[in-house]
Amino acid sequence: MHCPFCGANDTKVIDSRLVAEGDQVRRRRECLAPGCGERFTTFETAELVLPRLIKSDGSRQPFDEEKLRAGMQRALEKRPVSVERLEAALAHIKHKLRATGEREVKSLVVGELVMGELQKLDEVAYIRFASVYRRFQDLNEFREEIDRLAREPVKE
Ligand SMILES: [Zn+2]
Repeated sequence: MHCPFCGANDTKVIDSRLVAEGDQVRRRRECLAPGCGERFTTFETAELVLPRLIKSDGSRQPFDEEKLRAGMQRALEKRPVSVERLEAALAHIKHKLRATGEREVKSLVVGELVMGELQKLDEVAYIRFASVYRRFQDLNEFREEIDRLAREPVKE
């Protein structure tokens, strides 16, 4: 593990404990490079295989968590939603994808899961994402979606 402060590759684990109900290992590390000695924390999680995504053209792509996070962050830009809540939403999405037990799912399924989570997090972010994702045909369609939102209060 490289030191994030100086880049040295000699770091030592000084503490290790289970967190997140045993799903993660939190490690405190210390850089051994002379003149650095910085301490930092790493988290390790077991890599569970997520289904591959079937795009609308029939091609397959591996699930890309970074891409998903980036898309949701874009929708949540300047919205009052903490990183913790975004990460929890991502965890929900991954959990649901794993729970399908499928090796491949339509990318549409992921889009719908993202919209479900964003709707709970922040309605503006939801509209932003939905407007891009669903490529609203015209303004009326967009308005209908907003009306639908106004009629259905978000459940906590
Ligand atoms: Zn260092």
